[in-house]
Parts: sequence; structure tokens; C-alpha cells
Amino acid sequence: MIIEDPEFGEIVVRKNPLVQGARFSVSTSGRLQMTVPKYAGNFLIKRFLNASRKDIREKLPVKDPASQRARDAKKKILMKKAKEYLPYRLEYYAKLYGYSYDKVRLSHANTRWGSCSSNRTISLNIGLMQVPEQLRDYVILHELAHLNHMDHSESFWLEVGRHDKRYKEHRKKLKQFTPGV
Ligand SMILES: [Zn+2]
Repeated sequence: MIIEDPEFGEIVVRKNPLVQGARFSVSTSGRLQMTVPKYAGNFLIKRFLNASRKDIREKLPVKDPASQRARDAKKKILMKKAKEYLPYRLEYYAKLYGYSYDKVRLSHANTRWGSCSSNRTISLNIGLMQVPEQLRDYVILHELAHLNHMDHSESFWLEVGRHDKRYKEHRKKLKQFTPGV
């Protein structure tokens, strides 16, 4: 459940039969998260929140409602751009170099640009729409190479290098960016 608070913006409320009072944390998007006992209704939730305002203000890096909204809007635009681009770019390179994958997923994790799982699903981060094209292509070629090598062994890098001759430089440059929106 999500409640709207004038000070903290959207707050994600989760119920957990194991907690006694309320617990507060911050999501990767800067939203306040609250875990409350299962029996807690709206009245009690507000009371927990009001009793902890000062603590939250001092200890938790909650983003204000305006920057939460700005971030959501940015994410939506990136997702739209990514949907119209990444699956096709992936398919293009897969066809060109003879790879076959099962599915493509778009992600917005804060930690990785892409991944390839053993069931041949490739995940690509929507944040790739914000990096230069050659770095974006490097990530795609990197994940495709994982279809043949599920590790970062020498033969894996040889394969990446066959399709992206400047992969070392691209890999290094990519470190100047972070995938989070
Ligand atoms: Zn990898």
C-alpha cells in the first residue's frame, strides 16, 4: 500500500506479522518505506509516522516529493525510449553474429547495466539510453557473449573482442556512468 505524505511524499507501507512497532527504511528511489504490524490500520500507521518524523528527517535520506516525481517522470521517458530501441538493437546484433536468446527484459536496477541468465534471458538496463552509443553496444555484445560463456573467462573476452574491437576502452569508459535513474 502507498500513502501520500506532505513531507515525505509517497510512502510504501508493508505489513509484516513479525514486527512490533514501525520500521523505516529508504528504497533505492529515495522513497520512504515503512514496515508495520499486520493489525495496523490507517490511524495507527499515521501515529507511527508522526512519532518518528524527527528521527526520519535526521537519519534517513528520503527524497522530497518533488524530486520523487521528477525521477518517476524521467524513468518513464527512459523506459519508453528503451522499449523502442534496446530489444531491436539486441536482435540486430544477435542476428548479425548468430546468437539466439530466449527473452529480453528491461530493468532499472541501480547496480548493473545488463545480465544474461542461464535460461537465456538477457536483461538490459534502461539507463543505457543515457550513455554513448558505442558503450551501449558494448553492453549488448557483452551480454550476447555470455550466451556462450557464462563467466568472464579469457575465452569470454576473446569473443567480446571479436565483435567489439575496442571493448577494453568501452568497458573503462562505462565506469564513468552509473545505471541508476
Ligand atoms: Zn558479464
